[in-house]
Amino acid sequence: MEFRKLQDLDLTNKKVLVRLDLNVPIKKGKITDDTRITAALPTLRYILERTNKIALMSHLGRPDGEVMPEYSLEPVGVRLAELLGLEVVFVRDYTEEPAEQVLNQLNKNQIILFENLRFHPGETKNDPEFARKLANGFDCYVNDAFGTLHRAHASVVAAAELFPGERRAAGLLVDREISVLSGLQKKPQAPFTVVMGGSKVSDKIGVVLNLLNHANYLLIGGAMAYTFLKYQGVDVGDSRVEHDKMDLVASIYRNAEARKVEIILPEDHVAAAKFDADAEAVEIPGRTIHKGLMGLDIGPRTIKRYSDIIGLSKTVLWNGPMGVFEFDKFARGSLRVADAMARSSAFTVIGGGDSVAAANKAGVADKIDHISTGGGASLEFLEGQTLPGVKVLLKQ
Ligand code: AMP
Repeated sequence: MEFRKLQDLDLTNKKVLVRLDLNVPIKKGKITDDTRITAALPTLRYILERTNKIALMSHLGRPDGEVMPEYSLEPVGVRLAELLGLEVVFVRDYTEEPAEQVLNQLNKNQIILFENLRFHPGETKNDPEFARKLANGFDCYVNDAFGTLHRAHASVVAAAELFPGERRAAGLLVDREISVLSGLQKKPQAPFTVVMGGSKVSDKIGVVLNLLNHANYLLIGGAMAYTFLKYQGVDVGDSRVEHDKMDLVASIYRNAEARKVEIILPEDHVAAAKFDADAEAVEIPGRTIHKGLMGLDIGPRTIKRYSDIIGLSKTVLWNGPMGVFEFDKFARGSLRVADAMARSSAFTVIGGGDSVAAANKAGVADKIDHISTGGGASLEFLEGQTLPGVKVLLKQ
């Protein structure tokens, strides 16, 4: 997959339209976590060394095509100005008066930030008219918003298509994401272990089937594991089971057998009588869970086995928590898997918001080789799909 990178563009003194993911949590006008803003800085600095005539655009939340002040990007502009030491000119009415004029009047210490793209219904509809208003007056287009590449939205697809192929490129974040995630689908170093968890088999089936081509071990945790155990004829009490997904599980086993991938399921559990943070945690030493109890985390023997396999692997991908990690009593499995990944000498990749949160909670995020920033986008990418936002950046 050959896509255009930032380094392929001649950006000197050019006018550059930049799609970023500045969708940060904001409470009462205050940004509570600026990770996504700081993650955009390397690309911004790279461009700013060549031109200051840039306009940044992003969505924030889901205002559904309406102007809702609580979703304004204005606080993001303030933070960007602090971090970059520049003045950020905040442009609200880019649909009525395209940004070209402001762009031409920018002085060396100023850049533009557009108000929330999703204040306009044209954004999520990939409306060509809206895209034209965004792109008007710019020479080049850069997309560094990995988490939105699976969405055919105007700022991601229609606007990009208005630039000649050699003037569109991926930013540094997107470049890294695509390189790492496509590496996992080509020739990952063996043993390659895929750790899958989370709530639903159906959400992960595409990824699992695609990665079975290269994986050696598939370790299953989370609620997903109970559907697999049930399929194997194990009694799992009141645990969450997707009874209508047994055919999907069967196809995973068929594929795994054909490709000699070992599927490993939990051997013990931590269970509770109710789905509640304060529920009493009951250790279940074997596979079977009796009626009246539901499995909410993997048990200590499973943790040990999964950690050992992660330890001997050369490549590990983890997506989806091993239990209800939001409840402290049932977070241990996820935290220990994060720990095992941090200690492993393997090339380690974590995707999906919940597993990333677990790695943060375990305090080991900085010891993971790659943390994917886009949950939905990374899953679709790992299913082997060409994302609409990547397609427009491909070299022809
Ligand atoms: P997903 O978005 O599919 O990755 O699923 C993440 C969610 O699965 C988290 O909110 C977890 O609390 C939930 N989850 C993980 N393990 C279990 C379990 N054993 N029972 C119920 N929910 C679970």
